[in-house]
Amino acid sequence: MIAEVIVDIAASETDRIYDYLCDDTVIVGSRVRAPFGGKTVPGFVMRVKETSDLPKQRLKRVFPCPDELPALNSECLALAEKLTARYRVPKALALRLFLPSEMRTGKVRELMRNYAELTVPVSEMKLVKSAKNQIGVAEYLEKNGKTDCAYLNSVYPAGVTALEKKGYVRIFKEQILRDPYKTVTAERVARTLTPDQERAVDMINTDNRTVQLLHGVTGSGKTEIYLTLIAECLAQGKSSIFLVPEISLTPQMLSQLRARFGKNAAILHSGLSAGERFDEWWRLRTGEAKIAIGARSAVFAPLENLGVIIIDEEHDSSYSSETAPRYNTFDVALLRAKRNGCKLVLGSATPSVETYKRAKEGEFSLIRLEKRINQRPLPEIVIADMRREVRRGNNSAFSGALKEEIEKCLSAEKQAILFLNRRGYSQTVICKECGYVARCEACDVSLTYHRDENCLKCHYCGMKYNMLSACPDCGGRKLSYAGTGTQRIVADLQKLYPNARILRMDNDTTSGKEGHYKILKAFAEKKADILVGTQMIAKGHDFPSVTLVGILDADMSLHFSDYRSGERTFQLLTQVAGRSGRAEEKGKVVLQTFDPENEVLRFATSYDYEGFYENEVSLRAAMAFPPFSKIVRVLVTGEDDKKTIEALREVYVALEKLYTDHPEKFLFFNKMRAPIKRIQNKFRYQVLMRLSDTSVLPEIYGACAEARTRDVLVSVEENPANLS
Ligand code: ADP
Ligand code: ZN
Repeated sequence: MIAEVIVDIAASETDRIYDYLCDDTVIVGSRVRAPFGGKTVPGFVMRVKETSDLPKQRLKRVFPCPDELPALNSECLALAEKLTARYRVPKALALRLFLPSEMRTGKVRELMRNYAELTVPVSEMKLVKSAKNQIGVAEYLEKNGKTDCAYLNSVYPAGVTALEKKGYVRIFKEQILRDPYKTVTAERVARTLTPDQERAVDMINTDNRTVQLLHGVTGSGKTEIYLTLIAECLAQGKSSIFLVPEISLTPQMLSQLRARFGKNAAILHSGLSAGERFDEWWRLRTGEAKIAIGARSAVFAPLENLGVIIIDEEHDSSYSSETAPRYNTFDVALLRAKRNGCKLVLGSATPSVETYKRAKEGEFSLIRLEKRINQRPLPEIVIADMRREVRRGNNSAFSGALKEEIEKCLSAEKQAILFLNRRGYSQTVICKECGYVARCEACDVSLTYHRDENCLKCHYCGMKYNMLSACPDCGGRKLSYAGTGTQRIVADLQKLYPNARILRMDNDTTSGKEGHYKILKAFAEKKADILVGTQMIAKGHDFPSVTLVGILDADMSLHFSDYRSGERTFQLLTQVAGRSGRAEEKGKVVLQTFDPENEVLRFATSYDYEGFYENEVSLRAAMAFPPFSKIVRVLVTGEDDKKTIEALREVYVALEKLYTDHPEKFLFFNKMRAPIKRIQNKFRYQVLMRLSDTSVLPEIYGACAEARTRDVLVSVEENPANLS
């Protein structure tokens, strides 16, 4: 037999199908090891056939990998083909999306453990009295049956091996599955759906459109609806994919899922060890687990017979991938939903403008949940005008109104969340004498001062620098710290409220698998009164005793020169505000701003999504911004500036030709340096386009695939979430 094989090398030169000889037992989708250019490389069997166009003597033979099941099922193979064509990436790169990286590298495989069991009853063994360890092992095994050798060796050193030599004991390997959430336990809370939730489930089940948008205010019980849909699928023997932003995989969420679905759920996320991820993936592949839960990459879960795909917080920017292939999670989910004939459910309190437009126009079904569970009111949002505070001589980060509310909250023994989207202590270090600003050597950005580690950090590459005692340019000693970060807020708060227990949650405090878990758990157990954090505290968390949310700088994201900054701000404010008053107590939100008349803030404080949407969509239409056009950025990056410019030139010439051939399809076309000229030592250039007609997209992808070289990356981003 002949196998058509794709070798797992992500380069365009090797991006084709190779014929190999194989055994009759080789199955499509399985992994093989293939002799290739003097080495043996991993590969995948795409097809099996009787004959090859090449003469048999020129064909080499592949070695099958001893997997119980082919790594890729037929749906994965078909999807990979589609992604390859859509994003013009080497096939190997598309296939990799479907496999845990540890399977490809072969570094981590099943966790095997040695076990021992008796082959002969103890009464028939001939053992001398002094062989205490052997007797110990034999008696233990007789009493307890098969046992882990590691345990036996720790209690009775060398006993097992001696018995094995005598033929009294058999040692064998068995796979054990790592369980990453052993420690997560929860009682299943039995709940009946509210009439609103029931109606939503019915509508999703009966509407015949594939995409269902669930637009429900924060705290309206969307999660319970998702879980009901998943449970219904499970009862019919169907599988489900449940996608959440990485940050929402909170301990509460995990324990809820564990309590409800037990071993049927496999949880995939970046905090797992390589081995754990592999095992969870394998449980899905074998069908032992039928529910895949995870961040965007879980959309590639190796499940068959899907009954539903859910994307929670569908507006979240983490759903578009920032590495090649830069797929959009929604697009992949839609392909899978259509192939499986199942529903794709999107949920959000603040849907993206694009999604909402498609729902309003009837392409997606639109289901509304306008009330919180048990008619709990949404928290009242008061605006604190920071201009007035400054006029009154208050230059601190806290307005009078916020301080008053914090005091009330503390004395009522409730909890508060303060939100500031900036880590570190201060944003920049500036020399007051010459104006020098400390910058990262590898990236074209300023450094942030971190007081607890007494260092300067680059938030783009993570590099740390020693703190300066004097200006490296002029030697001046007057260094000033501009801008406030979360660390500074904590320090200032502690001064104001010496008895308050304060926790901080941002990228610096949440490293490691259990980083988030520990902080959230401590806060949930009321081991702290105030939680200060960045964006990561905005999402999904459900803390019943939080009655106050303070938004310290509501304007921050408004000033980004991005067409979506209004949308982002609205979403962020609504999400953060949604953390307050989720239980019996009514919640309050204090929103601090220097721009109290701003329309977006006005809509956010009155929870007027519809008003925000109408306003935003008419602005976008007037400016011909997405969803009325598509922004496409071609980003060219490389360590060697000259080679990078060469590649830029090549791609630019091709794109310019496209532009001059079809000027009517372009609203904007220009090449320039990227706003941040260098990140991690890579120079960055871009060609920025706005398309009124996306029929030229395949050609844009084609031009970029052509210009890509070993040293220069040329990538295409559609409506990029981040234009830095
Ligand atoms: P959302 O995801 O819409 O923000 P959640 O799913 O977190 O809302 O639900 C908000 C709160 O309501 C949670 O504390 C949840 O446990 C509770 N809840 C949800 N559904 C029900 C129900 N049917 N009965 C009682 N409580 C519920
Ligand atoms: Zn850097």
